[in-house]
Amino acid sequence: MTSTTATAPEAAPFRLFDLAVLRTRRLGPSILRITLGGPGAEGFSSGGRDQSLSVLLPRPGQREPVAPAGGSGTWTGKWRALPEDVRTVARSYTVRAQRLRADGSTEVDLDFVLHGDGGPASRWAMTAAPGDRLKVLGPTVADNAAVRFRPPAHTDWVLIRADETALPAAAAALERLPTGLPARVWLEVPHTEDRQALNTAAKARISWLVRNEGAVCDVEAVRAAELPGGTPYAWIAGEASGVRALHHHLVRERGFEPARVTSAAYWRRGLSAEQAREVEAKTQTQT
Ligand SMILES: Cc1cc2nc3c(=O)[nH]c(=O)nc-3n(C[C@H](O)[C@H](O)[C@H](O)COP(=O)(O)OP(=O)(O)OC[C@H]3O[C@@H](n4cnc5c(N)ncnc54)[C@H](O)[C@@H]3O)c2cc1C
Repeated sequence: MTSTTATAPEAAPFRLFDLAVLRTRRLGPSILRITLGGPGAEGFSSGGRDQSLSVLLPRPGQREPVAPAGGSGTWTGKWRALPEDVRTVARSYTVRAQRLRADGSTEVDLDFVLHGDGGPASRWAMTAAPGDRLKVLGPTVADNAAVRFRPPAHTDWVLIRADETALPAAAAALERLPTGLPARVWLEVPHTEDRQALNTAAKARISWLVRNEGAVCDVEAVRAAELPGGTPYAWIAGEASGVRALHHHLVRERGFEPARVTSAAYWRRGLSAEQAREVEAKTQTQT
């Protein structure tokens, strides 16, 4: 299984953008849309689908995040070389949408889950207000390595499974699927009101799994389903243990080719993103 909690995007085609909060909008009890823009957004170029970026936040006591400027070498390498108690807090988020406004300026929507567990990103989002600034390491070309939703050639149908953190990516990916392509989609959210209207030209069958309605949210929802015939592509993202279990089910029990399954651990229950990165680094050195 591939995992992305350890991965901050590399240098080119990424650079630092200094963005301003333009407005915020509550999409449901658990999700807040923050629209960013301003002159600092010039040159931002999202590839859509599950395009991710790194949100950079100051540590307590710092006014500005301490981050490498970019340039040659990998940004992540330079960031890791800074002392741990000084370097900026980095968190991955998805570009839900990018728009060009009539005046030529760019707007970017990020949808934050307000998970209430005290993480710096969720905490920042809860109090974000127009005029606040946010530094991000974001894409400068649409075709970049932080877009991972890539159905290979000869895909007959698509399977998507996402929790609320991966809902922005799933929603953006659905918007890009070809007309009429069959898709089976399971979207998990905490509350009934967190469900969203989704746009797609695909022939998508969308099942909402709402936790406060008692929905079965583990691998059983997919295990019980009759899936379309033909060659699949699967994209699974969300909490690490659920992603791992479903990856295992699709590859070992359903016979999906591993190359046709993109699995991404977006967060780990009980671990901050830093702690999750450490666990992944240890797992990688052991394998
Ligand atoms: C490629 C990628 C794209 C992502 N896109 C989005 C996105 O668009 N929107 C989004 O909201 N998240 C997204 N995430 C997930 C987000 O990066 C994590 O949830 C991150 O841990 C949040 O940082 P934090 O500072 O709030 O909490 P952290 O400091 O990382 O964690 C603090 C505590 O909160 C817990 N926690 C973290 N996230 C959640 C959660 N969602 N629900 C319950 N508990 C949680 C942790 O387990 C830990 O115990 C994405 C992750 C990746 C890898």
